[in-house]
Amino acid sequence: MRLLVLNCGSSSLKFRLLDVDPEKQDVVQILVNGAVKGIGGTGTLELQTKGDTRPVTDESIPDHGHAIQWAFDALEKELKERSQTTGPLKVDAVGHRVVHGGERFSSPVVINEAIEKEIDGLSELAPLHNPACLEGIRGARKVLGEKIPMVAVFDTAFHQNMPPVAKTYALPHELISRYRIRRYGFHGIAHASLSTGYSAFTGKRLEDTRLITLQLGNGCSITAIAGGKSIETSMGFTPLEGLVMGTRSGDVDPSLVSFLSEREGVDAAKVERWLNEESGLLGLSGRTNDMRELLSAATQEHDERAQLAINLFCYRIRKYIGAYLSVLGGSDAVVFGGGIGEASPDIRARVCEGMEWCGLRLDPDRNRACVGLSEGTASEISQDGALVKAYVVAADEETWIAKETVRCLT
Ligand code: ADP
Repeated sequence: MRLLVLNCGSSSLKFRLLDVDPEKQDVVQILVNGAVKGIGGTGTLELQTKGDTRPVTDESIPDHGHAIQWAFDALEKELKERSQTTGPLKVDAVGHRVVHGGERFSSPVVINEAIEKEIDGLSELAPLHNPACLEGIRGARKVLGEKIPMVAVFDTAFHQNMPPVAKTYALPHELISRYRIRRYGFHGIAHASLSTGYSAFTGKRLEDTRLITLQLGNGCSITAIAGGKSIETSMGFTPLEGLVMGTRSGDVDPSLVSFLSEREGVDAAKVERWLNEESGLLGLSGRTNDMRELLSAATQEHDERAQLAINLFCYRIRKYIGAYLSVLGGSDAVVFGGGIGEASPDIRARVCEGMEWCGLRLDPDRNRACVGLSEGTASEISQDGALVKAYVVAADEETWIAKETVRCLT
């Protein structure tokens, strides 16, 4: 069975063409990985086959529909060049990552007109993301026709069954029910792939495991997973809550919104933009949201603001790990993932500093050596015998989406 996985971000499209075994619900081979970046302006397209990355020339790409057409044309050409097909590109099904599944979707669904409308209806909860996912769904349908089944795999679904104490805000009940207010949680596909990556690497059954997973990229979140299920996560009604991120503040006192809007003479939407786009590592450092640059500014230039940004980033994570150890009643392991989690031994060491009290002990050599894992692999970075172990997992979200798609269709 040939599958296409489409992952539409607000200005990007990641795609993967792969063959799967429907009976084993597993991947047989990955044919091509690709990405279109810069949608809404001048887009760039990159194709990757067996480690070989080839950029394709820039083109004006106004929306995700055009990006998909471009990706299809490039895939078709690529397969023809490799003599894998002669005619038009054929796929048996498409798996779409959809950011917000609201209260309704706790598992993947086959997309029909009614489901499409529901995803559209959830756009008010995810205005930056769900419209892009819908454009992806419509674009793929336009190119592939009505007959090819398409499945939506939701980023919120993994957190859908968190217990009421974890998913409820202490707000008036009427407001909560009128506006579907709750803690939805995001990055679900990433956290689920980190936990399955841990299980595959260690051979431990998720049913018997308590895990804390850390997705540390531009967006950052942390999840407590018991028996393979998310029971608490740091992002909430929107992805703004929780950890310090590239440009998002994470947790702040909500009364800051009216305070700042009054003092600065701006509306609440403007303050929300500050919190989402100009805060976090960028706001603190005043120079960048790129952790690599911050680490070098802090160590080489002794930039105090960069140092504070890094310290706050790590401190907030440590604070959450402490909280989640309580929520879980102890944890078997902490699992690092995302661009920063995978690539920065320095940040991993700072996060775990002073955590020996709970049995979390990194092995400095293992930690330092663990950089540049290839997708879908993992490595242990804790000391032998540590009570709480630590791992790095290079999560493979597209494979996870592919498996969920097959599971939904068979
Ligand atoms: P996104 O959430 O957009 O997918 P990524 O998961 O790609 O983001 O992570 C991007 C972040 O990872 C950036 O802050 C970048 O600086 C950081 N990063 C990448 N490589 C390193 C590294 N070697 N050391 C520290 N940070 C890194």
